[in-house]
Amino acid sequence: MTHRLTVIGTGYLGATHAACMADLGFEVLGLDVDREKISRLAAGDLPFYEPGLEPVLRRNLENGRLRFTTSFEEVAEFGDVHFICVGTPQKQGEYAADMTYVDAAVDALAPHLDRPCLVVGKSTVPVGTAGRLARKLAATAPAGEDAVLAWNPEFLREGFAVKDTLHPDRIVVGLPSDAEAATLAEKTLREVYASMIAEGTPFVVADYPTSELVKVAANAFLATKISFINAMAEVCEAAHADVTKLSEALSHDDRIGGKFLGPGLGFGGGCLPKDIRAFMARAGELGADQALTFLREVDEINIRRRIRMVDLARELLGGSFIGRTVGVLGAAFKPDSDDVRDSPALDVAASIRGQGARVTVYDPKAMPNARRAQPTLNFGPSAPDAARGAHVVLLLTEWSEFREMDPHALAEVVAEKNIVDGRNALDPDHWRAAGWNYRALGRP
Ligand code: NAD
Repeated sequence: MTHRLTVIGTGYLGATHAACMADLGFEVLGLDVDREKISRLAAGDLPFYEPGLEPVLRRNLENGRLRFTTSFEEVAEFGDVHFICVGTPQKQGEYAADMTYVDAAVDALAPHLDRPCLVVGKSTVPVGTAGRLARKLAATAPAGEDAVLAWNPEFLREGFAVKDTLHPDRIVVGLPSDAEAATLAEKTLREVYASMIAEGTPFVVADYPTSELVKVAANAFLATKISFINAMAEVCEAAHADVTKLSEALSHDDRIGGKFLGPGLGFGGGCLPKDIRAFMARAGELGADQALTFLREVDEINIRRRIRMVDLARELLGGSFIGRTVGVLGAAFKPDSDDVRDSPALDVAASIRGQGARVTVYDPKAMPNARRAQPTLNFGPSAPDAARGAHVVLLLTEWSEFREMDPHALAEVVAEKNIVDGRNALDPDHWRAAGWNYRALGRP
């Protein structure tokens, strides 16, 4: 059976999903409430940086399988499977997720659903959302119970979004309790993801709440792994031990593994921080808050790394930032992304600027977003420009461009050869041999 797919919310997740589904051969219509985003996408101009995505977008616009709109009426008319990919950010001043956008999307779509269709939630949501939205759909869609809801959480990583979408580690689908609706939803999703299932991708079928929880449990585990190694870094700092050696030695244990075990400035971005906070908030509402108290510690360890980074830089400058110049390499929350949401790098840069230093930031791809988020920082067009005249250089996002920097060349432009490697991305011996005072988190 051929399906016509729609994707509602075309940000990092939705634009990737829409382009990749079109690449698989489906006809896809993407919708966003942001008109500028839609006109850029329709012109083949990706509104954010994601390696390898723009060619996929362009070739599917050209072959006519992918189109974009701002009309919910058109989306309902066109599609028989509707993916909900809108944002679920942290609420202002609270831990809980802001569900306004998800509700607005369903409220706008439902009144136009007048024939049988499948609505598939992909956004990361508090457990219980799917059940609530299914009831809302049944009550407000003219198709009634023939507008079926499934939950299909997304696990893609920015920087690897195309590969992760086309070749995911697993597909998880949460189905309704009604047997007939569940059978139809499962059959439809197996057809949509047939190419991935054919290559052996595990297809895990669950109920709504389990599928919603898989996503936040995965993020809670990943955040815990990062904060675990960063807690070890704190101990290493106190004991004059080397956390990079410790991490390497741990990683040879198959039961532990080396992924997400890199010590450094910690996690950020539009997912892990807000997802673990929303998970704690939701567990609290369910009376299970005790189960997740460790996540508060995970969050605090993570934030403490940013504070330690600022302290270390200040220490190197003799105890004060006033009148000093700091060069910051990196603004994105991680390399190969232009996303600066809850970016540790920008957080550190802003804090140092707030303490009286002149801070100049450079990032290979995230400059426009960083400028918008922190307009009072200075920005330089290259790493040497950001480092020019600096009393200390801070490496805060591990772009390969920074890993490959020549310490001799950078030495030419700085005022003092102090560098703090916030991501353990550089070779200390190499930098020390070039005359730098090299410092890193968790290392002597
Ligand atoms: P994003 O902010 O980049 O995109 C969200 C998009 O939704 C925006 O373009 C916004 O204009 C649009 N939108 C808001 N309200 C809308 C409405 N009522 N109708 C239609 N569109 C609307 O966010 P994102 O990073 O793509 O994340 C989307 C969801 O996916 C979140 O729940 C997030 O937690 C989850 N997720 C993200 C990633 C990731 O790596 N970015 C990975 C897995 C899951």
